[in-house]
Amino acid sequence: MERRKLVIIGSGPAAYTAAIYAARANLFPLIYEGFFAGPAGGQLMTTTEVENYPGFPEGVTGPALMEMMRKQAEKFGTAILTEDVVSVDLRARPFVVAGSSTCILADALIIATGATAQRLDVEGAKDGQFWQKGVTACAVCDGAAPIFRNKDLYVFGGGDTAVEEAIFLTKYGKKVYLVHRRGELRASKIMGERALKHPKIEIIWNHVLSKVVGDSVVTGVVLKDVNTGRETPHEAGGVFFAIGHTPNTAFLKGQVALHPTGYIKVKEGTSYTNIEGVFAAGDVQDHVYRQAVTAAGSGCMAALDAERFLSEKGHIG
Ligand SMILES: Cc1cc2nc3c(=O)[nH]c(=O)nc-3n(C[C@H](O)[C@H](O)[C@H](O)COP(=O)(O)OP(=O)(O)OC[C@H]3O[C@@H](n4cnc5c(N)ncnc54)[C@H](O)[C@@H]3O)c2cc1C
Repeated sequence: MERRKLVIIGSGPAAYTAAIYAARANLFPLIYEGFFAGPAGGQLMTTTEVENYPGFPEGVTGPALMEMMRKQAEKFGTAILTEDVVSVDLRARPFVVAGSSTCILADALIIATGATAQRLDVEGAKDGQFWQKGVTACAVCDGAAPIFRNKDLYVFGGGDTAVEEAIFLTKYGKKVYLVHRRGELRASKIMGERALKHPKIEIIWNHVLSKVVGDSVVTGVVLKDVNTGRETPHEAGGVFFAIGHTPNTAFLKGQVALHPTGYIKVKEGTSYTNIEGVFAAGDVQDHVYRQAVTAAGSGCMAALDAERFLSEKGHIG
């Protein structure tokens, strides 16, 4: 079986940054970039303009940014397999990493498989419809875009994230409607009160999204009352899903310590997991910031932590 000093699982900003650092440190990393597990290149492959990644004053499209990161990783000698990792055996070193058609031994492992933003599967919100044409799952990333300025914006969700996103959007929208399928918020009391008191936020209780409509971009939503079934159309310039993220950790099958929400636990301020030689980077271990630049930063940390580990164990130099 092929043996590598370092295997990286994932293909977003965290994985490619880790690969750039590791390849330049002569660790000859191999990346499993995924195939069915999510778009190779990560979440930014599903978005259009990225305006907050440093170094691009005119903005850059998500796919173009990820292609550049991938090329940079390859340039320094990263090997890339376009395959999902289906399981890992972390009980002893070298670790066993099983892809859908390959199996590789690894002296160190970086997990950077990201998280998947949940979307409501309703008419008008799908890929090829108004997704990324006024429908998005990241208010912090997209809220400042001109199409949302002074429009009625609709946030769907009832937790702290939904309230935070609604408050954030009040800077840009004419009015922000927070639509929740229940009669009370799941958000903490303090966050709930902030939403209730905010002059630009109105909460629409006991309603769900039934349809998004528009022309070239979103122009309206149809909401459904969960108690009566009655549907009402509303003018809308933006639809923001804030219904949670699912960290991509199912393939780990309990071999690394996870938070109850499925995110990988890391030692604070590092990329160390509870397994010596296994490191985590990016959204798979970060339920707070979830940005491309923070994912890239933690990918750098993981590569440096892995390099130090491999050196201490006598695998390099
Ligand atoms: C619509 C949208 C717009 C966004 N816009 C911005 C923005 O403008 N600016 C910004 O900073 N952030 C933005 N974000 C957030 C940003 O995309 C994420 O924070 C960032 O991509 C996280 O990077 P990551 O490296 O942790 O992993 P991800 O980008 O989540 O990528 C992980 C990838 O790993 C691969 N993978 C998963 N499981 C496996 C497996 N078992 N085997 C092999 N490979 C696997 C998949 O290909 C997956 O896509 C946006 C997010 C969304 C959803």
